[in-house]
Amino acid sequence: MAEKRDYYEVLGVGRDASEDDIKKAYRKLARQYHPDVNKAEDAEAKFKEVKEAYDVLSDSQSRARYDQYGHIDPNQGMGGGFSGDFSGGLGDIFDMFFGGGGRRDPNAPQRGNDLQYTMTIEFKEAVFGKETDITIPRTESCDTCGGSGAKPGTKPQTCGVCHGSGQQEVVQNTPFGRMVNRRACSNCNGSGKIIKERCSTCHGNGKVKKQRKIHVRIPAGVDDGAQLRMTGEGESGLRGGPAGDLYIVIRVKSHEFFEREGDDIYCEVPLTFAQAALGDEIEIPTLTEKVKLKIPAGTQTGTFFRLKGKGVPRLRGHGQGDQHVKVVVVTPTKLSDEQKELLRQFSSLDGERALEQDHSFFDKVKKAFRGD
Ligand SMILES: [Zn+2]
Ligand SMILES: [Zn+2]
Repeated sequence: MAEKRDYYEVLGVGRDASEDDIKKAYRKLARQYHPDVNKAEDAEAKFKEVKEAYDVLSDSQSRARYDQYGHIDPNQGMGGGFSGDFSGGLGDIFDMFFGGGGRRDPNAPQRGNDLQYTMTIEFKEAVFGKETDITIPRTESCDTCGGSGAKPGTKPQTCGVCHGSGQQEVVQNTPFGRMVNRRACSNCNGSGKIIKERCSTCHGNGKVKKQRKIHVRIPAGVDDGAQLRMTGEGESGLRGGPAGDLYIVIRVKSHEFFEREGDDIYCEVPLTFAQAALGDEIEIPTLTEKVKLKIPAGTQTGTFFRLKGKGVPRLRGHGQGDQHVKVVVVTPTKLSDEQKELLRQFSSLDGERALEQDHSFFDKVKKAFRGD
């Protein structure tokens, strides 16, 4: 079976393409390959491929799933162990229940396993992106024997028991009738081949563990839990099959001042009572610089101010989120005698009246005292 092409590659767009880009690319290709227009032999297949890619990438949910898991191919992974379809009658269903290796051809090319790697990065690295090298252990085809497992100069021989199919059939009489159950050949362990003289490097496996250095580019704006897929960086395929993919799961450390929600950044800054009452201009740290923020006179604690465009760059599309600044009025705990005296004067002079101004709030308090 031919390996499916990457949907982004099919449409000729980048992984960060906007919905619009995808739509445009699809329209162009659909016109180009539409069987009514294009009489080339492979036009119809191309058209279908383009349509399928568009169907998946134009829907944000299925696109997210594809970005995360790639092609979900029922013949690969997903429980593994069998490749029977449902059209072949009871025998196939039996194979499924009993596992047993199904009818997978041991000589067919096999795709390599996917690998997963968890990478923890700093808060700001997630915001601005990062390039780094990682080293992962992965299984690769043995160079000494070219993956055959046989000592150089010799060849694996076809198994005499299963004649290369890798399977043995076991016939059982059951209440449903006669059932044929297939299982892996015990003589060759399902490989269909016998190696007389083993390769000394891989001990007949055809595969070796290697430490592999991979360059990873983490895009600016990734969030905790994101998965990056690196096509073909998983384990090597067998017998000419394609390599699996490498999935990098991103974990982002928290920051002591900033909090993140999607593309927006939140932070809290303290204000003195005087700053809140009289107004002030204060400095706020953002992800890139310090900016000035004007606090109007009479600002209440808990008020949010928005610094537009000071958030995280959007992973898809353009622009940046915002930074939201919550101001918290801090009540002083250590006052000098002079300060205390001034506050007493303030309170007797104007404190009561200041509070009375906010009717809605104090009405509610009064009502609560009356038991309304
Ligand atoms: Zn065999
Ligand atoms: Zn070898």
